[in-house]
Amino acid sequence: MTSFNDFGLAEPILRALAEEKYVTPTPIQAQTIPIVLQGRDVIGIAQTGTGKTAAFALPILNHLFTKRLRPERRSCRVLVLSPTRELSGQIADSFRAYGRHMRPLAIELAIGGVPINRQVRGLSHGVEVLVATPGRLLDLVHQRAVTLNQVEILVLDEADRMLDMGFINDIRKIVAMLRKQRQTLFFSATMPQEITKLADAMLTDPARVAVTPQASTVDRIEQRVILTDKSAKPNLLVEVLKTEKTDRVLVFTRTKHGADKVVRALQKSGFGAEAIHGNKSQNQRERVLADFRNGKLRILIATDIAARGIDVDGVSHVVNYDLPNIPESYVHRIGRTARAGADGIAISFCDHEEMAYLRDIQRMIRITIPSTDKRTGVRPESRPAEHHRAANGQNRPDRGRQQRGHGGGNGGNGNGGNRHNGGNGHQNRQNRNEHHAGNPQGPRTGAAQGEPNGIGGVTFLQRPNEPRRNVGHRAPR
Ligand code: AMP
Repeated sequence: MTSFNDFGLAEPILRALAEEKYVTPTPIQAQTIPIVLQGRDVIGIAQTGTGKTAAFALPILNHLFTKRLRPERRSCRVLVLSPTRELSGQIADSFRAYGRHMRPLAIELAIGGVPINRQVRGLSHGVEVLVATPGRLLDLVHQRAVTLNQVEILVLDEADRMLDMGFINDIRKIVAMLRKQRQTLFFSATMPQEITKLADAMLTDPARVAVTPQASTVDRIEQRVILTDKSAKPNLLVEVLKTEKTDRVLVFTRTKHGADKVVRALQKSGFGAEAIHGNKSQNQRERVLADFRNGKLRILIATDIAARGIDVDGVSHVVNYDLPNIPESYVHRIGRTARAGADGIAISFCDHEEMAYLRDIQRMIRITIPSTDKRTGVRPESRPAEHHRAANGQNRPDRGRQQRGHGGGNGGNGNGGNRHNGGNGHQNRQNRNEHHAGNPQGPRTGAAQGEPNGIGGVTFLQRPNEPRRNVGHRAPR
C-alpha cells in the first residue's frame, strides 16, 4: 500500500489524514490496516514511533463510521488499554485527530492522577472509544461508571510494558468482563513468554504482523558510550550539553530521585531543565511536556516509565545518564530520537556498576557501541574494546551470545573472545541480520513470514518468564 486511499477508508478519515499531512502509510500501518478492516484479530510486534497508533485507530474509526450504533449508557464500543497516562492521552488525541470529521464520536480518557468524577460523567451517556489505564478502568468498573460487555474492539497497547508494570492481573480481570465475540488487537514491542501466553488467551486466530522499526530508526541513530566514574556524571552531562550541538535533549535516569538530582545539577550550571516522573502531578507533567514540545524547554529529564509513549519530534539527543537494566528499555529510550525522518544521537554514560547492563544491551542490539573512556585510574586493558568484525565475515556472529554468562568482569564488550582494540567512531553494524539462524532463544513467537521478532532486523533475547523490573510497582493511578 503506497497511499492511504488504497485501504478504502471512509472519506472523513482520509480528509483528516490529508490534514495531518500523512501521505504514505508506515510499514505497520500497511500491514495492519487491511487485516483489521477484515475484522481479524491482530498481534503486532511494534513499538511506539512506528505509527502503530494510527495502524489500529484508523480501521477502528472506519468500523465506527460504517457500523453506526448509539453506544449504550455507561458503555464503550472500543476499549484501548495502555500502560501510562501519557501514552493513553496520546492515543486519545490520535483518535480525536483522525476522527475529527466524524460525528458523533465520543472519546473518553480514563487515567489516574486526575479526578475520577469527570470521567464518570463522561461515560454516563456511553462513548464510542474509551482509552484507559488498567487501574483507573477497574476503579470505574467497580463504581459502576462503565460496563464492558458492549466492547466490540479491544486494543491492548504495549503489552510487554503492562507486564513490567505489574498490570497483567488487571488485564486478565478486564478481559474476563468482555464478551467473547469481539475483535482484539494486541501490540507489544517484545514477546516475552508471559506475553505470548496472555496473547494466546486473548486472541482468536490472530494475524501476526511485525515491523522492524529501528531498521529505519535505530540505524539512523548515532550511538556512543562514555565510560565514566559515577561521581563525574553531573559534570559530564554539563560538558555534553556544552559541546554537542543539541536541539532538544531527553535525559534518562533510572530513578525519580535521580531525575530530580540531575535537574538540580543542571539548573545550578545555568541550564533550564525539568523532570517528568510519576511523583509529578498530571498537570505538571502535561505542562512540562507541552513546554518540551513547543521548544520552551530544551532539556527534559525522564524515567523510563514517565517517558514511555512520549511522542515528541525533533529530539536531537537522548542521553542515558544511567543505563537501563533492561536492554529493551535502551532501545525504547534511544528510539525517542531520530523520529520523523530525522537523525539522532544517543549518548550513554556508563559507570563501573553499569558495565553488565552495557554488555546486555550490546548483546541484544548486536552492536558494539563506540566508547570513549573518561574514567580515572582505570587500567587500559579494562576498557571495553571496540569490536571490529572482519569485513570478510569470518568471525562467528554468535560468539558473544555463546559466551553469555562467562564474559568475565571487564564487561562492556559483549563479544566474548572476539575483541580487538580499535579507535572510536566506528559503529559496527555489519553483524545485523546474520543471527537468526543460530539464535538460541527458542521458537520465535511473534513474527510473521520470517520477520524477526525484534529491532532493526535484530532478534531480541527472550526475556525470562517473570517480570524483572518494577514487580508490584504500578503506575500511579
Ligand atoms: P506512533 O508510533 O503511533 O506513536 O506514531 C509516531 C509518530 O508518527 C506520531 O507523531 C504520528 O503522528 C506520526 N505518524 C504516524 N503515522 C504516520 C504517517 N503515515 N505519516 C507521517 N507521520 C505519521
